[in-house]
Amino acid sequence: MVNIRQAIFLDRDGTLIHEKNYTKDPADIEFVAGVFPLLRQARAQGWQLVVITNQAGVAQGLMTEAEVRYFNAIMCVQLRAQDVILDGIYFCPHHPSKGFAPYVTDCHCRKPKPGMLLQAARELGIDLKKSWMIGDRRADIEAGWNAGCRSILVKTGYGAETAGNLSSWSRLPEQICVDLAEALDWVAAKDK
Ligand SMILES: [Mg+2]
Repeated sequence: MVNIRQAIFLDRDGTLIHEKNYTKDPADIEFVAGVFPLLRQARAQGWQLVVITNQAGVAQGLMTEAEVRYFNAIMCVQLRAQDVILDGIYFCPHHPSKGFAPYVTDCHCRKPKPGMLLQAARELGIDLKKSWMIGDRRADIEAGWNAGCRSILVKTGYGAETAGNLSSWSRLPEQICVDLAEALDWVAAKDK
């Protein structure tokens, strides 16, 4: 068992579920293959599972906050049907330049800023240094680092593109995996 204060932060689109650009339709929820048993295993080992997602479609008028919450609620119902329970879902509705008030703002929550992870840590009692952030974009990896976590890049979603640009990074993700299933398997083996 890991310490009860350790968390695995998961990006949503392109990491936990397949990327469908700016969707608000729960019919688009398609989980990445093989993740259910590994999410169950991670939680059984003591990891908290927390989804951290940028949803700038709200700022741009493509969806409302209520629609994001509804989408997330349906996703949770589908996860629970597989005996997977999430400890939290945090989303950022803002964008620094595109959209309308009050959502166009240089907020503290939009990844790569660590605001959502810091809020989750406060609310759920998470030890960030012992936690992992898993995502498909540079903003996910850097949000993890900016919060003091370690980060894993997955090659689903925009991940293949992200992995192709690593030569310009001054620090590399702690691990690169083909998908979330491989990433969870790797964490389970490393941090028993
Ligand atoms: Mg993503």
